[in-house]
Amino acid sequence: MRPKNAKIVEIVCETPSVRTLRFDIAFDPVPGQYLMVWIRGVDEIPMSISYKDGITVQQVGEATGAIFDLEVGDSLGLRGPLGNGFSLLGEEILLVGGGVGAAPLALLGEEAKERGMEVTTVLGVRCCDDLIFRERFEGAGELVITTDDGSMGICGRASAGLSCLDLQDFDQIYLCGPEPMMADVIGRCRGMEAKIQASIDRYFKCGLGICGSCSIDPEGIRPCVEGPVIRGDKLVGTEFGRYKRGPSGRKR
Ligand SMILES: Cc1cc2nc3c(=O)[nH]c(=O)nc-3n(C[C@H](O)[C@H](O)[C@H](O)COP(=O)(O)OP(=O)(O)OC[C@H]3O[C@@H](n4cnc5c(N)ncnc54)[C@H](O)[C@@H]3O)c2cc1C
Repeated sequence: MRPKNAKIVEIVCETPSVRTLRFDIAFDPVPGQYLMVWIRGVDEIPMSISYKDGITVQQVGEATGAIFDLEVGDSLGLRGPLGNGFSLLGEEILLVGGGVGAAPLALLGEEAKERGMEVTTVLGVRCCDDLIFRERFEGAGELVITTDDGSMGICGRASAGLSCLDLQDFDQIYLCGPEPMMADVIGRCRGMEAKIQASIDRYFKCGLGICGSCSIDPEGIRPCVEGPVIRGDKLVGTEFGRYKRGPSGRKR
């Protein structure tokens, strides 16, 4: 699949380190699917689809830094939507997001609301300035906010927000965010792992299931094609929550 040229029509500064880019082309994604974003002359990296015509990028290194240098009218190459997204199941659902992991969950929450589902979201961020898409989540249902520094909502990590909820009440639980947070939630859901869907972050190179860069030990699940959304029970007993591999394949 060759990348489609996408011109940036709007840039929204969500926080000092997170920006949303809206494009002149739209997709029809399943929430949780991703795009391989080609920053010409720099790199091609995976990004979740946060709007049908947009991505939400946290600046962490060279490629994301180069995206931050772009302006309205500049363009990127986009391959996708790729992979398997979230399946909306049941009537009452819980979304748990950490940091920029809120990006695909916002689209999911909006679609769930449209289908008449009851949506509760727990969003964990370091401080209130890092919170993104508050209005989108409040529009979809109930929102519980946690901050590491106590500057908004419940003081603590996203898991602190779960203590005010009975996880048994939910038909499905959807996760996206830092791996320790997702592993912690799965660990709290003993016996309920099959109703968890987690968006997995691994080092994606090809996005086509060919190179094996993102494979998860020991079965070799390839999140770039079999995920990035993977059911919680399939992650139990794997490398998930313990280690991952970098660009050279070395464990980190
Ligand atoms: C399915 C998926 C969806 C993602 N969605 C988003 C999103 O919506 N918003 C967002 O800000 N980030 C998202 N990421 C993470 C994003 O891809 C990395 O932050 C980005 O690739 C960093 O590139 P860099 O050159 O700026 O940083 P680097 O300095 O190269 O690396 C910084 C960190 O990003 C990781 N990274 C670098 N290249 C890749 C790659 N090709 N694949 C996976 N991880 C990489 C590195 O392992 C390192 O931990 C997603 C990752 C995956 C796998």
